[in-house]
Amino acid sequence: MSEHDDAPDTGFRAQTDLVRGGQARSPHNETAEALYLTSGFVYTDADEAEAAFQGDRPRYVYSRYANPTVATFEARLRRLEGAEACRAAASGMAAVFAAMMSQLKAGDRVVASRVLFGSCQYIIAEILPRFGVEVEFVDGAEPARWERALSRPATLVFLETPANPTLELVDIAHVSQLAHAAGARVIVDNVFATPVLQRPLELGADIVVYSATKHIDGQGRTLGGAVLGPSDFVDGPLFTFMKHTGPALSPFNAWILLKGLETLQLRVERHCDNAQAIAAFLAEQPGVTKVLYPGLAAFPQHELARRQMARPGPLIAFEVDGGKERAFKVLNALHLVDISNNLGDAKSLATHPATTTHQRVPAEERARIGIGDGLIRLSVGLEDVEDLKADLAQALGR
Ligand SMILES: *Cc1c(COP(=O)(O)O)cnc(C)c1O
Repeated sequence: MSEHDDAPDTGFRAQTDLVRGGQARSPHNETAEALYLTSGFVYTDADEAEAAFQGDRPRYVYSRYANPTVATFEARLRRLEGAEACRAAASGMAAVFAAMMSQLKAGDRVVASRVLFGSCQYIIAEILPRFGVEVEFVDGAEPARWERALSRPATLVFLETPANPTLELVDIAHVSQLAHAAGARVIVDNVFATPVLQRPLELGADIVVYSATKHIDGQGRTLGGAVLGPSDFVDGPLFTFMKHTGPALSPFNAWILLKGLETLQLRVERHCDNAQAIAAFLAEQPGVTKVLYPGLAAFPQHELARRQMARPGPLIAFEVDGGKERAFKVLNALHLVDISNNLGDAKSLATHPATTTHQRVPAEERARIGIGDGLIRLSVGLEDVEDLKADLAQALGR
């Protein structure tokens, strides 16, 4: 818990904490959380400034270090996750980069799952080796590959489950056990599951990272990110790294994300209702050769999904017969669902990973990890599910 996260634990259940957790009202007793849109703070005298910089007294010094609105967001997300500490960042990638760079040094070894969000893959494959970090990618769904990679000492394990865009799962409990035996900490990118559906820390992981841009905001308004985990890391090396390198979340964006948290659970439940119905619907459509959704009994890791997720999540991928040409036709024929590489919005969004989010991945690697030219990723929104079905049916019918 950070020095500014001083609101007492309430003993309330998760949904109550999502609405009220971490709120410290100003002397004006506002209903909504106060927005402290300020870069700095003032001191009554020079002695107080000296004491603040010596760290003698916890107080706000500068919003690159900490800010009351950002701290309220961190406190609320920390409670939901059940983590000791949380630090917010300006974007999901700022959170991922800080979570790795704050603890890696030359000579360390990182093991990661192969199917990752493009920029996470870039950091591990392209940036880390430039600083003398050894990296190895494994097929995340194959326990034996993790066993082999983690039979040697490692520093960090980075994984995403469900993974973008194939929805492939990684067994968090199993990989965490192997990682700890190899001396590694485990970072889970939990964006596709959201903090409502999957609790990596309870499954044995050490650190959780979010792009709050996705379902935490959930309404397509702002970028944001967060790192959660043990206090000795989050309030120690991570805080020091972030304080000096500057990926701070703006107080205004933190305020938007706070309001997003209030409705997160409600929204995610409805996203899941819609996604389950759409996945079943797509599986019956002619010309759809494959539907990847952890909630379908035919999904290869359906059992693992049931074991480690409360519900199978808001994202679906499906493959149409006829490769890129047909996939483009389907996307271009959609009236209601928008074409967008973003996800986690109230509006349903569809994208063609092979030519957008995963364009940078070489074609043979894309084929290997299951990103075919006919694959479409669908972030199921909050519209009426019957309207979504009708739109997909007419687009597929063309
Ligand atoms: C979007 C996303 C990120 C990056 O988050 P930004 O907020 O866009 O920087 C990282 N991981 C996953 C799985 C994502 O979907």
